[in-house]
Amino acid sequence: MDPLAPGKTLGILGGGQLGRLIAEAAKSLGYRTAALDSSPSAPALQVVDKPFVGAVDDAAAALKLATASDLVTLEWELIPVKVLEVVAAARPLFPAPSVLGLIQDRLTQKNFLRKQGFPQTPYGEAATAAGWKYPVILKRRSHGYDGKGQCRLASEADAPKASEVLKAPCVWEKLVDFKAEISVILARGRDGATAVYPVAENVHRNGILHATRAPARLPRDVEGKAVALAVEIAGALGHVGVMAVEMFLLHDESLLVNEIAPRVHNSGHYTLGGCAVSQFEQHVRAVCGLPLGRTELLEGRAAMVNLLGDLWEKGEPDWAPLRAIPGATLHLYGKSGARPGRKMGHYTVVGAAAETEFDRADKRLLQLRG
Ligand code: AMP
Repeated sequence: MDPLAPGKTLGILGGGQLGRLIAEAAKSLGYRTAALDSSPSAPALQVVDKPFVGAVDDAAAALKLATASDLVTLEWELIPVKVLEVVAAARPLFPAPSVLGLIQDRLTQKNFLRKQGFPQTPYGEAATAAGWKYPVILKRRSHGYDGKGQCRLASEADAPKASEVLKAPCVWEKLVDFKAEISVILARGRDGATAVYPVAENVHRNGILHATRAPARLPRDVEGKAVALAVEIAGALGHVGVMAVEMFLLHDESLLVNEIAPRVHNSGHYTLGGCAVSQFEQHVRAVCGLPLGRTELLEGRAAMVNLLGDLWEKGEPDWAPLRAIPGATLHLYGKSGARPGRKMGHYTVVGAAAETEFDRADKRLLQLRG
């Protein structure tokens, strides 16, 4: 298949901030853009050439987007495989529906990783309470993200806490006592070529990403292992596009895979401004069949801090302290309703100030709140 020529239309299933940032990168490469979202004011629908309003899990709506596009990609992995197959029958779609089919259900994803021999914490299907290795974390098998649909149990005595989460099928995982959380963001082209970004180190709050720094503080050999794991996983899946592999670094410096996201990822936002080619442009290059771009950090280091709706409690935050940080850039997604926990934007800091900014992210957020 030839590379998608400039002037052709890249369609995006999903219109959130990830779709918006993909669309902006696609435009800069000379493509026209389309996106589908159920909300007419969704972040990506504000910036694409052809906005489509409709549900991404509605095959008819997805087909409309596909017919108006020359090639289709996605920003969200939970689109039903049946819908993706309808799209793929009409236009080239990357990543392929089969990749999403392996990832959408946490149990299927974990079984796939186990079969391939990738290291994970002990886990199982949570249909009965038998065999759980406490302390455990219960996770909904599908549609659980950003810590939603999860519940931690220290011991069997905590079981009543789980009744709400267990209303839908879940997996149990043994809780990991980790030293750090890291993620590897990589792109895999249609030809199998890969480009890997510097490993990111992540801090989560209430199951939601709070801050990222790159490069992660890792011994070289561990960094190499993390990269090798992610590249092998992408290859085993036959993925095309950007993908994130989240991992736990244990105290003995071994690694466990937590989860795979077959798309651009929040922990890769530091690449926008931080790296020669952002994860968003890289994703466009990969799916459109262009050569992958360079991934090195332009100023040696970068940090990213998420801006959640909580910050808007007293109205628009005071951005002046952010503007005063050398190398800082504010990104807002154009969302109107600021709800607690909702991702409204992020800021990045590149260069020397990145390290201190990562450490004082909590304090900085308090300052911005006014
Ligand atoms: P997830 O949605 O699976 O990425 O989980 C969100 C966050 O919850 C992770 O980034 C970790 O901070 C935490 N978490 C998830 N699974 C585990 C686990 N098995 N052990 C310890 N912490 C976990």
